[in-house]
Amino acid sequence: MKKTEPTWPDEVEKRLDALVTLRRDFHRHPELSFQERRTSEIIAERLHAAGLEVRTGLAKTGVVGVLRGDRPGRTVAWRADIDALPLTETLDAPFTSGTPGVMHACGHDGHTAIAITLADILAARRREMPGSAVFLFQPAEEILGGARPMIEAGALEHPHVDQVYGLHLTTTAPAGLVTARPGPAMASADGFTVEVRGRGGHGAMPHLSIDPITAAANILLGMQNLVSREIPAQESAVLTIGQLVSGTKSNIIPDRALMTGTLRTFDAGVRQQVLERLDEYVGHMAQAYRTQASFSVSLGSCPAVVNHAAETEFMMRTAALEIGDASVAEGRPVMASDDMSLFLEARPGCYFRVGIGLPDGRPRPHHAPEFEMNEAGLPAGLRVALGVMLRSLAP
Ligand SMILES: [Zn+2]
Ligand SMILES: [Zn+2]
Repeated sequence: MKKTEPTWPDEVEKRLDALVTLRRDFHRHPELSFQERRTSEIIAERLHAAGLEVRTGLAKTGVVGVLRGDRPGRTVAWRADIDALPLTETLDAPFTSGTPGVMHACGHDGHTAIAITLADILAARRREMPGSAVFLFQPAEEILGGARPMIEAGALEHPHVDQVYGLHLTTTAPAGLVTARPGPAMASADGFTVEVRGRGGHGAMPHLSIDPITAAANILLGMQNLVSREIPAQESAVLTIGQLVSGTKSNIIPDRALMTGTLRTFDAGVRQQVLERLDEYVGHMAQAYRTQASFSVSLGSCPAVVNHAAETEFMMRTAALEIGDASVAEGRPVMASDDMSLFLEARPGCYFRVGIGLPDGRPRPHHAPEFEMNEAGLPAGLRVALGVMLRSLAP
């Protein structure tokens, strides 16, 4: 391989059909977070067949494959998430989800297929490969629950990983366009619950009860004001209450109201500040309405994805060599979250995006039943992944 030429184009080319077939197979058989049994079996089989050392059962359904090259070099990890979502697919295709109510609506089928193919290529050229490539197949990204237990189970050790890279496919960019940005790239996420407790009674005599619904309504509005009044304008924070549940009947004052919501930020300080203030605020507002309330951050929290500067610059340079300048651009931060952030907190690296948008301009949003992947974007993902891995493994 010359340093200025695309990496092993023949190896990529001859696997492109199989890459699509593999992606469609995962698409046809989607599995929810921490239930990716079939998916993880196939991953383990394929890695095994390619001659990798394979560890299974990390974070329940996670798989780690280690490929040691014949030449000295670094140890670099490639991370792919493997889970699907609780949605019913609207697309009518031979590979449409065969599991009612479950669907790959975020592209993780593509991530999994790319990572397996990448392992295949590197294994086939093991003699020329420096260092060790570690493949992290992470379950339960969609509930932000898989990365932490993978790391705790030692996914970044034995061998000790020096850097970590990964990609996310996106329907918001044209097929094959690769984007990344140094610094904050995706928001932090904190799922939270507010429980307001009052005292139930007759709807006609509110003075004899303590109404948790009115309290909850005011707490909700106040939480929104808090974000707009206490966060500097140049920072960003989004707070959404996605669920407000209370009561059973129009003329009964219930004794309890429950809200759940999510907070997104790009800055660890802002995240901390808002969470602390929400806690105080909810308590004080509840008191003002004679209710009691608790604020708790639930599972499904993770920090912002923050790309490391040197590794991101390296990744962008590599992408330009692999697929050409015209297909690489600086990305914008997105408010969505991804627990790839935890791997990037533990090791330097970069998480980039690869376009899979269809040319007709009709939106196919992620996490929606009408999500649809333009498979023409997959080769760019594979090419850049291969270039990034091989070039970063070199000492
Ligand atoms: Zn998703
Ligand atoms: Zn995703």
